[in-house]
Amino acid sequence: MKEFTYVKAPDMDSALTALRTPGTQLVAGGTELLNWLKEGIEAPDHLVDITGLPLTGIGVGPSGQLRIGALARMSDLAAHPEAARERPVLAESLLLAASPQLRNMATIGGNLQQRTRCPYFRADTALPCNKRASGSGCAALQADDTAQLAIFGWTRECAATHPSDLAVALAALDATVLVSGADGERRVPAVAFHLTPEEAEPQHHTALGPDELITAVEVPGRPSARLSHYLKVRERASYEFAVVSAAVTLELTADDTIGSARIALGGVAHRPWRLTAAEEALRGTALADNDALRAAVAISFADARPLPGNGYKVQLAQRAAVRALRDAARRGGPGANGGSR
Ligand SMILES: Cc1cc2nc3c(=O)[nH]c(=O)nc-3n(C[C@H](O)[C@H](O)[C@H](O)COP(=O)(O)OP(=O)(O)OC[C@H]3O[C@@H](n4cnc5c(N)ncnc54)[C@H](O)[C@@H]3O)c2cc1C
Repeated sequence: MKEFTYVKAPDMDSALTALRTPGTQLVAGGTELLNWLKEGIEAPDHLVDITGLPLTGIGVGPSGQLRIGALARMSDLAAHPEAARERPVLAESLLLAASPQLRNMATIGGNLQQRTRCPYFRADTALPCNKRASGSGCAALQADDTAQLAIFGWTRECAATHPSDLAVALAALDATVLVSGADGERRVPAVAFHLTPEEAEPQHHTALGPDELITAVEVPGRPSARLSHYLKVRERASYEFAVVSAAVTLELTADDTIGSARIALGGVAHRPWRLTAAEEALRGTALADNDALRAAVAISFADARPLPGNGYKVQLAQRAAVRALRDAARRGGPGANGGSR
């Protein structure tokens, strides 16, 4: 491993100034970054520890929005009543991720900045990977090893998926990522924070600039977040990344018809994939009409481009979305959704 300097940033200005020096990496919980150093994915000259910055708070703002500091631990957010009770999709996405030990160390900002789990990206011997070395090729596509790859938004350069469970829940909640840099603060919709290879070179994983850091995530206060659910399909029951996942929020009318629904999928692209066409089609659909739910969800798959080995994800993702809608609705009881049901 290459030698690097280590400094703990005493305040935000110092962290932002340090980021202007090329070869600098931030470290928060360290649960991702230290693996990258060992695997040769990153070889920084300077590590800047940001755990001393005042970004750990979780609280509700004047318009009911939940503000989550970028350095809040995954376990702290999962246990917070504003996640566990008011926005169950948030708590579930966190509790189904990693392990208790990791969640006690790992931060919200670090979770969003984690990188793909494509084995060719993570390989400790040098394999062609455009995400690691631009222009080197894609070993996964060359080997036709496509079972885990994307069905939306991929190119011949890269078809990796993004592994964050939290990001999928945030996309369904219409959350915003707050970012600070030399030019001040800017707001990025959570659904647009991760970049697909259609949007940027595969080496650009997120919308974060090289001299920026995430300060917080804001989640709007909406009654629909109470009827919400995160469903994660994985190859074993715990401590595993999603093959496919679905995050939903729901508003029901008194006769159990869908007033509005928001659906984001994980495991299908290099960003959470919102099913906006399906969301439109679901409005006015009776929750008990399973065929109608499936037909509405299927509309969003007109653009799906499965690879030879991952056609199964089309069916799996559609079923996960429908099941998540029904499971979210089961949370209801009179008044659970702002009185509309
Ligand atoms: C074995 C294992 C299993 C896992 N399983 C899952 C899973 O099932 N689901 C899931 O979602 N995740 C999973 N993870 C990923 C885990 O959630 C991340 O490792 C963790 O959230 C990273 O947070 P961290 O604070 O440790 O980040 P670090 O390792 O400290 O940093 C990771 C990256 O984020 C950057 N960074 C950190 N904070 C900021 C900030 N505020 N602004 C800008 N950049 C920042 C760092 O510079 C670095 O580039 C797993 C990880 C491991 C090791």
